Amino acid sequence: AIDVQGLRKAFGELEVLRGIDFSVARGEVVCVIGPSGSGKSTLLRCVNLLEEPSAGRVMVAGTEVTDPDVDIDRVRRRIGMVFQAFNLFPHLTALENLTIAQRRVLRRDRAEAERIARANLERVGLGDKAAAYPAQLSGGQQQRVAIARALSMDPELMLFDEPTSALDPELVGDVLAVMRGLAQEGMTMLVVTHEMSFAREVADRVVFMDGGVIVEQGTPEQVVGAPRHERTRTFLARVL
Ligand code: ATP
Ligand code: MG
Repeated sequence: AIDVQGLRKAFGELEVLRGIDFSVARGEVVCVIGPSGSGKSTLLRCVNLLEEPSAGRVMVAGTEVTDPDVDIDRVRRRIGMVFQAFNLFPHLTALENLTIAQRRVLRRDRAEAERIARANLERVGLGDKAAAYPAQLSGGQQQRVAIARALSMDPELMLFDEPTSALDPELVGDVLAVMRGLAQEGMTMLVVTHEMSFAREVADRVVFMDGGVIVEQGTPEQVVGAPRHERTRTFLARVL
């Protein structure tokens, strides 16, 4: 579903990604871990072209997004994105936050958009919160609304960038449980996270990044359980 080859990204003189190769197969869950500033968010943002790569090739769902002629809106429509900040519209209810893009982008009629929205609120455990405004929801509930909103667009794959790192510790579990459920349903997921237990239990593969390169990647047992590189060990010692 995602294939990245020779990806480089520089901001002026600063080389943030220095030759990244990896792929995510359909139905696979890949977790990206690594220290702050290692380029994890930049990598995710290059996948949906929120950042323009300096070099390399990025394929998403069969489309080369690095092709200058790509219709990026069409590709982005197939990618669900969930960030650290939930970015819900504060003046819209949970239900309205889920229907607006369905209606505007996918041109669904109100009844269908609401049916899908309600099903997805149910799916993230918030069936009773359709009429609530974001300010009336906890951070964990808001993040689950953001996930439900992404799901309402029928994404082929989901990108998560530290979806739980802005949450109070007691709210993290509910969000991770929803993500775990998605993984079990076979959703293709690329997840930047500091939650090592999630990476260990849910990821098919873990990618460890440092300094703009992939230092090692493999199964969770390999990368988290028995890291081969000193830099990976140092990082894990700090976060575990
Ligand atoms: P964190 O764990 O803190 O989120 P990260 O691994 O996601 O870190 P990135 O956000 O990808 O790291 O940033 C990698 C490097 O690129 C950092 O040094 C950052 O300052 C730099 N950077 C990111 N975006 C920009 C930008 N738009 N302009 C200039 N530098 C940037
Ligand atoms: Mg980041």
